[in-house]
Amino acid sequence: MNIEIKGIEDEKFHRPLQLIANLFFEDPIVSLRPLVEKDLTIALTLDEVDGFMKASARLYTEEDQRNFSDEYEKAIEGEMTAKERFRLEKNVLSHVYLTVLQDYTGIVQKWGILTGMRPTKLLHKAVRDGIATEEAHRSLKENYLITNEKIELMQTIVDRQLSVVPDLYDVRNEVSIYIGIPFCPTKCAYCTFPAFAIQGKQGRVDSFLAGLHYEMREMGKWLKENNVKITTVYYGGGTPTSITAEEMDLLYDEMYQAFPDVENIREITVEAGRPDTITPEKLDVLKKWNIDRISINPQSYTQETLKAIGRHHTVEETIEKFHLARGMGMNNINMDLIIGLPGEEVPEFTHTLEETEKLMPESLTVHTLSFKRASEMTLNKDKYKVAPREEVERMMTLAEQWTKEHNYTPYYLYRQKNILGNLENVGYALENQDSIYNIMIMEEVQTIIGIGCGAASKFIHPETGKITHFNNPKDPKSYNEGFQEYTNKKIDILNELFSKY
Ligand code: SF4
Repeated sequence: MNIEIKGIEDEKFHRPLQLIANLFFEDPIVSLRPLVEKDLTIALTLDEVDGFMKASARLYTEEDQRNFSDEYEKAIEGEMTAKERFRLEKNVLSHVYLTVLQDYTGIVQKWGILTGMRPTKLLHKAVRDGIATEEAHRSLKENYLITNEKIELMQTIVDRQLSVVPDLYDVRNEVSIYIGIPFCPTKCAYCTFPAFAIQGKQGRVDSFLAGLHYEMREMGKWLKENNVKITTVYYGGGTPTSITAEEMDLLYDEMYQAFPDVENIREITVEAGRPDTITPEKLDVLKKWNIDRISINPQSYTQETLKAIGRHHTVEETIEKFHLARGMGMNNINMDLIIGLPGEEVPEFTHTLEETEKLMPESLTVHTLSFKRASEMTLNKDKYKVAPREEVERMMTLAEQWTKEHNYTPYYLYRQKNILGNLENVGYALENQDSIYNIMIMEEVQTIIGIGCGAASKFIHPETGKITHFNNPKDPKSYNEGFQEYTNKKIDILNELFSKY
């Protein structure tokens, strides 16, 4: 789809217009300059008139002479900084642009003009600012064109988060820790995580773990010296249970020695994502160190799907490992499902839900497949046939109904680029089984220190909320060469942020 924009020449508007077009079409080209070949022309205007920012859009097609138009305006409230002005301009333009594209395609974007990852942050801000619920909802609808259905979902999640973490707005002086272990038995086709096939790489694993232990010790030392508490710890990757039981044992021993007050950390999660990595010995180690929560991820209960996406384990293995973990006393198990995997439609997803019902994990994360840029699936898109938008929506509705009927409540959500049907990923949990780490990371309420390979740190200033990012390298080789330097850089940032506390 080639879209020519008329009337707007400033390049700063290109990205917002492109992002909205992406919600409707696959790989559309949006150009602010004349195109030789175009499918659609959208004429936009943007003017300041009598204290209002006004925008209009007129969409017309060469082919069938149809045309659609819309107008929208918003009052300009007082003096604005350049940033605030751009935000207002972008907002009114996005309104009219989205509306004509909706009218033309017949597709209603349930998240309206919102293209960011974390919609619930908007509602949290309103709560913190003391805005009444009704007014906050009205503003989400009016300012972003979000549908009532999604506003309700946001409200349920915000309420739930505040009941699970009543001090959610006051945990800025604490931190959570993410520990990245970049190995997996094999690489899945949709994966862009740092995940290196572990077979035959013991040398690399040893060096990586030496670096990781170092980082944990240094970070722990800093936290103890500065009296900063840890709220949650999350082991992700890769698959943290890809390493041996002995290696896991040493790692958790290090955690208890290095980190402050581990007994009072609110939650420690280990992703045991791939069932083919789970053994009784490893479960024993998890129990020994009081790991509260693990994740065993089926993604789908259809064997052909697992094969197609490169997950080299069987459906039976997932079920068997779930029972093994349960039998050995793991009483907070999360399972991840993905809607829209290649070849899957409503019957396959219904089957997945039926199988889930037999296990009833404490929490369930329902992802919608996204075509991440560097994944094998995106690079070879033609090989992977996925369901059309309406079918994906039907599966999403099924997930919503099923979780409701089975007493799961949504407790976090995030959106991604190139996600099928412009839908979302939602975490559901049974009563009191919500993952606190997931809430911390989604709502950006405190610093998350990333340790290990591919670990992204997000430093949140305890006072201003300003975010600073720092990424450890994704590949074990670079990590092994520079882990001391990465540790020092993060400690410098922490010193700056927490110096006053
Ligand atoms: S198990 Fe997870 S991290 Fe590992 S390759 Fe598959 S999707 Fe990536």
